[in-house]
Amino acid sequence: MINNLEGVCRKPKLRPSKRVYPPRKCKKPDCGLMFTPTDKRQEFCMPQHRIDHNNDLRTVREQPLKEFGKKLAHNLEVLKKIHSSLAAIGQTSFRLQLLQYEIYNFGSFTDKTINKDTGNEIEWIYNYGLEVKDHDKKTFIIHFRKSIN
Ligand SMILES: [Zn+2]
Repeated sequence: MINNLEGVCRKPKLRPSKRVYPPRKCKKPDCGLMFTPTDKRQEFCMPQHRIDHNNDLRTVREQPLKEFGKKLAHNLEVLKKIHSSLAAIGQTSFRLQLLQYEIYNFGSFTDKTINKDTGNEIEWIYNYGLEVKDHDKKTFIIHFRKSIN
């Protein structure tokens, strides 16, 4: 850094304001301490509380996505398990009760396609797909695909 040249690369001097701001309450909900800000934008009693608060907000924002991810992961495990059990006993369809027993999250899937042969919807969890085989009998089949579109 060149400091001997007037006006070049010179850091602005810190000029602490002599202005006195009225005390305010720390914005971090579980702190709420009254403090005297040194800057009019200061909202937290200490830098760590600003960091904590922003992390907390991010956690709250990301929560729905995290929950959805958990449901998908669970559904994937359930379909994998049923798929391999059916293969082992040489069956293709199974009853709704099995999904209920496994606490399958209906309505949580990654994408949907239509089975051209049956005209039914297939709800995919990544590469495992669930299709209603018989609405009245409440039976299902599981599809497997190698590639995920
Ligand atoms: Zn605080």
